[in-house]
Amino acid sequence: MAHWLAGSRDWQVCGTCCQLRGPFVWRLKGMAYDHVQECDCPRQRRTDGERPETWRGFDYNTVAELCQACGCRVLDSGSRFSIWFCRECRQRATDLNAELGRTLVPIGRHSILHGVASRTTPKPTEAEIGAFVNRFGALVERMRRLRDWGHVVVRRNLSTVGYADATEIALTDYLAAVSGIDRAGRSEEMVMWMTLDRHDLE
Ligand SMILES: [Zn+2]
Ligand SMILES: [Zn+2]
Repeated sequence: MAHWLAGSRDWQVCGTCCQLRGPFVWRLKGMAYDHVQECDCPRQRRTDGERPETWRGFDYNTVAELCQACGCRVLDSGSRFSIWFCRECRQRATDLNAELGRTLVPIGRHSILHGVASRTTPKPTEAEIGAFVNRFGALVERMRRLRDWGHVVVRRNLSTVGYADATEIALTDYLAAVSGIDRAGRSEEMVMWMTLDRHDLE
């Protein structure tokens, strides 16, 4: 866990959107910047054009998030190279992808672009471009599903540990409470979620 999170009682899991929020100080080139990470709730309420400026040194205004598979571990975030899983869940996802020979579970934004990057020399044929667009569309859809699962799993975890009705919970309390959750089981639930037919989700 990031050093600035350790022992901090100011970070919370939002009971509404299931995301992390809290204040932190970011040090960059000898400067200290005070930031507050918002959960999704205020972001949802903002109208287009009201987007706050992106923090210096970040690709998006997120410094920490929960593992997208098990929801039990805090990860560093905010870079386009950020990985969406804790070490164990990442290993399970890459093993599964290798076994299937395709990216069922994308592990990060960058890996997606990398995985479907269309080769440019020699010039791709129309069919190759079409295949690229299809694969990319499928991956974007899987990314969306994975994000949805990232919320669902935290909701399930909150319910499992008896916080189903909490409007917020201190992150340290949450992490302690979910330490006994079967994370491999959550990974399997994630894979089931990723492979459900679309109409099953509605
Ligand atoms: Zn929220
Ligand atoms: Zn995990």
